[in-house]
Amino acid sequence: MVRTRFAPSPTGYLHIGGARTALFSWAYARKHGGQFILRIEDTDQERSTLESEKAILEGMAWLGIDWDEGPFYQMKRLDRYKEIAQRLLDEGKAYWCYASKEELDAMREEQRAKGEKPRYDGRWRPEPGKALPTPPAGVTPVLRFKTPLDGVVSWDDMIKGRITVANSELDDLVLMRGDGIPTYNFGVVVDDWDMGITHCIRGDDHVNNTPRQINIYRALGAEPPIFAHVPMILGHDGERLSKRHGAVSVLQYQEDGYLPEALLNYLARLGWGHGDDEKFSMQQFVEWFDAANVSHSPARFDQEKLAWLNQQYLKEADNDRLAGLVLPFLHKQGIALDGGPDLAKLMALLKDRVSTVEELADACHIFFRQAEAPVEELKAKLTAETMPAMEKLKVDLAGVNWEAASLNQLLKDTAKAFNLKLGQIGIPLRLVLFGTAQTPSLDQTLELLGRAETLRRFEAAWP
Ligand code: GLU
Repeated sequence: MVRTRFAPSPTGYLHIGGARTALFSWAYARKHGGQFILRIEDTDQERSTLESEKAILEGMAWLGIDWDEGPFYQMKRLDRYKEIAQRLLDEGKAYWCYASKEELDAMREEQRAKGEKPRYDGRWRPEPGKALPTPPAGVTPVLRFKTPLDGVVSWDDMIKGRITVANSELDDLVLMRGDGIPTYNFGVVVDDWDMGITHCIRGDDHVNNTPRQINIYRALGAEPPIFAHVPMILGHDGERLSKRHGAVSVLQYQEDGYLPEALLNYLARLGWGHGDDEKFSMQQFVEWFDAANVSHSPARFDQEKLAWLNQQYLKEADNDRLAGLVLPFLHKQGIALDGGPDLAKLMALLKDRVSTVEELADACHIFFRQAEAPVEELKAKLTAETMPAMEKLKVDLAGVNWEAASLNQLLKDTAKAFNLKLGQIGIPLRLVLFGTAQTPSLDQTLELLGRAETLRRFEAAWP
């Protein structure tokens, strides 16, 4: 049974890169009828916050990336790490290191001065025939892993292919800190092993950790999972994606008026492709997804493509759902809805014209409050030629059958009767009623605005 996981550290919001890793990991499990596990890696006590954990869970829920087990918390598993650490110690595969921070800093400084790569020199590593220093009093030791001195670590990465690292490149990493909390590399191995993870799909910022982790698996006599390291996401300028490039938090996209299915679809396309297909459902994605098709090189985040996808999904979204989604935006924007047109009907009229829910809310404003007509522009449009037609229209609007087709006919007839082009009455009418010449088609807009409100506005703005 395939078991994958997502293991975020709750030290920030759920960002685009994390969400994409989660999505790939989730899709792999779903495709193979397996299970997807969520684990919160909260061992960094200083930087982990409840708020961030909440934001991660909320972001996943919003996107609809559901998990079968968890969330598990590393801080609730400390006894287990201790147990495994003890086992490695008992078997001579780990050892206590009493070197102080100052001492290690000095050691690295010396190595750097000699032009060497800084690395732990094994001063507390027990070897046959080697005399170890006496443990200094009052120092809490850390537990270090006895990395094999020679040989290599190799694995077939599902995305990057075969990777081989010489053990001589690796030093004796810390497994347990003095405070009894495991390091990332140790916690992740114990967890992935205990949780039966078969495929470890994660960001390629961890690729350097993998040989160390494989060595720990070997020391435990455990089978490492299959690894897949997903290349990172860059901004449009080729720099690593960051706040500078705009929103990088998943929930920020919700706040900015994106639909989760659009963001998911976009994330799926980020560094993975299926021919020229741009728009597809998650069901389709799960069917098509294959780690072998994940790009080997970093993906570039393209805000415009995301906005385009969002627009496509908005167009086909259910009107009642959209009405529910614009509500919080309208509230935030201080728009009172009482007495206005039916929101779902507004959605049907406006959703083709916008690329975010926020823009959709903006487009609703003209129906709920009368914007002041721009005086100069109106003056320019209400000429001796058009004024009589507008006067007549004002009267006729009171009696016409109030639905789009009849309204359309009335506008056309009026223009014709006064020998004007449709725009010559359409534009001043828009300016009078809505304060702008940019509205959807007048007949439908008027139908939704309603007769009473149309006449009231006409009166109020008539010069
Ligand atoms: N907690 C790690 C991170 O957020 C997880 C790495 C992994 O997936 O192994 O980067």
